[in-house]
Amino acid sequence: MKRIALVTGGTRGIGKAISTALQNAGNTVIATYNNNEDAARAFAEEIGINTIKFDVCDYNACVHAIETVTTQFGPIDILVNNAGITRDSMLHKMPANAWDEVIQTNLTSCYNMTRSVIESMRERNFGRIINITSVNGQKGQVGQTNYSAAKAGVIGFTKALAQESASKGITVNAVAPGYIKTDMINTIPTAVMDKIISMIPAGRLGSPEEVATAVTFLASDFAGYITGITFSLNGGQYFV
Ligand code: NDP
Repeated sequence: MKRIALVTGGTRGIGKAISTALQNAGNTVIATYNNNEDAARAFAEEIGINTIKFDVCDYNACVHAIETVTTQFGPIDILVNNAGITRDSMLHKMPANAWDEVIQTNLTSCYNMTRSVIESMRERNFGRIINITSVNGQKGQVGQTNYSAAKAGVIGFTKALAQESASKGITVNAVAPGYIKTDMINTIPTAVMDKIISMIPAGRLGSPEEVATAVTFLASDFAGYITGITFSLNGGQYFV
C-alpha cells in the first residue's frame, strides 16, 4: 500500500538513504532539511523527492510544516525522526548552548514532530514512527554527555509512546546505528576514527543504506507486531 512518509533531515546522510529506500518501497516521501540548501536541491534533482525546509527545534514550525504536507499529500502514515547533530566536548568544558542545541535537535524534536502527527494516526488506526538513536545513547561516549543523554532519551520516549499507541495500530521503534559513514563523523580526527574502527568487530564503518534497510522494514505493513524495540546495527561494537 502506498503510504505518506516524512523523514526529518532526509536530504543527506542517513536520512537521504532512508528517504530513497522508503520511496523505492512504494511510499510517497517528503524529506525535510534545515540549512543546507545545496544538498537539498541536489537531493531533489537526483532522487525526485519533495523537500520542505524548517527547524525541528521549533514546535510551531513543525506544526505548520505538518499541516502543509498534509494538505498537499495527505495525512502522514510514516514519520522518521532522523534529524540530529553533535556538539562534542568534555562536560567540564561544555558550554550551555552545546547542551541545549543537542537536546533540542535530537530529543525535543521527537516531541515536536510526533505530537504533530500522533492524533491523526490515532484517528486513522495506523502509524509507523521510527526514531533514530545511536549506539552512544546505549553505551555512553566520552565527550558526548549531551548527545548520549539525548539519544538515551529517545529510547525512553520510544518505549513510552509504543505502550500508549499499540492499541491504535501505531508502532513506535528506535534504530540505533553504530558509526556510519556520513558528514556527521567527518569532524572526528583520523587518528581517533582509526582507533574507533579498530574496536568494531566488523572492521569497518556502516553505510547509510544499511540503516535505511532496517528503517524500511520497521516502516512496512509487515512489521505491525514489532513495537517499542531498539534495533541495533553497529557491526558488533556493542550488544545490548
Ligand atoms: P548528517 O549530519 O549527515 O545529517 C543531519 C541531517 O539532520 C541533515 O539533513 C540536517 O539538515 C538535519 N538537521 C540538523 N539539524 C536540524 C534542525 N534543527 N532542523 C531540521 N533538520 C536538521 O547526519 P547523519 O546522517 O550522520 O545522522 C542522521 C541521524 O543518525 C542523526 O540523528 C544522528 O544522530 C544519527 N546517528 C548517526 C551516526 C553516524 O555515525 N553518522 C551514528 C548513530 C546515529 P541540513 O542538511 O539542512 O543541515
